[in-house]
Amino acid sequence: MGIIKALKCRECNKEYSPTFVYICEECFGPLDVIYKLANNITKQTFENRSDLTYWRYFEILPVEHKKNIVSLNGSITPLQKADNLGNRLGGLKNLYIKNDSVNPTFSFKDRPAGVAVSKAKEMNLPAVGCASTGNLASATAAHASKAQLPCYVFAPFDLEHVKIAQALSYGAKFIAVEGTYDDANRLASVIGDSNGYGIVNINMRPYYVEGSKTLAFEVLEQLNWTVPDVLVIPVGSGAMLNSICKGFEEMMDLGIISDISNLRIIAAQPHGCAPIVDAYKNKSNEVIPVERPDTIAKSLAIGDPGDGSYVLKRLRQFNGIGEEVSNDEIKRAILLLAKTEGIFTEPAGGVSVGVLKKLIEDNKIDRDEKIVCYVTGNGLKTTESILDLLPTLNPVKPNIQLVSAMIQ
Ligand SMILES: *Cc1c(COP(=O)(O)O)cnc(C)c1O
Ligand SMILES: [Zn+2]
Repeated sequence: MGIIKALKCRECNKEYSPTFVYICEECFGPLDVIYKLANNITKQTFENRSDLTYWRYFEILPVEHKKNIVSLNGSITPLQKADNLGNRLGGLKNLYIKNDSVNPTFSFKDRPAGVAVSKAKEMNLPAVGCASTGNLASATAAHASKAQLPCYVFAPFDLEHVKIAQALSYGAKFIAVEGTYDDANRLASVIGDSNGYGIVNINMRPYYVEGSKTLAFEVLEQLNWTVPDVLVIPVGSGAMLNSICKGFEEMMDLGIISDISNLRIIAAQPHGCAPIVDAYKNKSNEVIPVERPDTIAKSLAIGDPGDGSYVLKRLRQFNGIGEEVSNDEIKRAILLLAKTEGIFTEPAGGVSVGVLKKLIEDNKIDRDEKIVCYVTGNGLKTTESILDLLPTLNPVKPNIQLVSAMIQ
């Protein structure tokens, strides 16, 4: 399994042994997992594996003993060549959708939550939990159910009701906070630390973020280890974007790919909660928190993103762009993706597709580039968000003449 060399401070590089720690005691910087990588790992190592879950990349995941893996056995998700959508956007020949809406709990959060809950089991923690904008609640709760660990979810009370029902069904204790995600986050942090609970995206963050790297590994393997030109990534806290970049760097370190200097990263945020894109556009290194996020893309409604400044750094490193789209553009993008590619996503996926459309129209992405657009959550959780754009149904009597008249 993955052999962890150390946890290393992202700011001052101080190293820590890989225990239940998450913040540098010198400078309060976040800690990242670094590995002792065996030098005999090649692309065949992964290609030859029969394990179709993201644990096929276990050498670079932070769990030491296989017996501690807590998995819902979701398969590698589809990388769909999107020629219909590409045509609609103006003749894109190399557009792919990474369809992560089909994970076991229907969002990409099964990746980081699965890794963190496995690590919680490995560290013998008595309970797990999370602060959630919706999807992490279910991902953590479902894995906790499989591990038979108690799970505490802290989330804003006004989430989509399907996301709440789903998390409750898995047996989570749901603390519905009358406030924002940032309020829920602060509560989860204090309660996690004082009780020794593994709050997957707070005090287990070094391990948690590792799961999302597999979004880089899978895409690389699915593209036969060729590096795409452009990645479009929806951004809330920024953890996923940062982790995908780390994934590409680790494949470089392994020598499995040789050059990522042409890779460009697009950070996609919703208007109404786009603090990172605002900083990017103002050419500032400082992310100014949004106090009252206001967007239909609730999974991205994080006013004070934990990895905000690191996303800005990644955009500089990868010649990237930050862009935002309005609620209306999000809804239209959801329907465009559904009608061209048969993929039904929630607003977060509408944000990636909407931003892609905008950047193509603004000629900021070339039409012949190899583009991967990450679609991270499922539309079935958020049907209320697009109802007003759908045709209304007029019920009809089961009469052949009446129905025939409707078909014309
Ligand atoms: C959480 C979430 C994101 C954002 O991930 P971060 O790591 O917070 O940036 C994107 N899409 C969906 C569907 C999510 O649930
Ligand atoms: Zn430090």
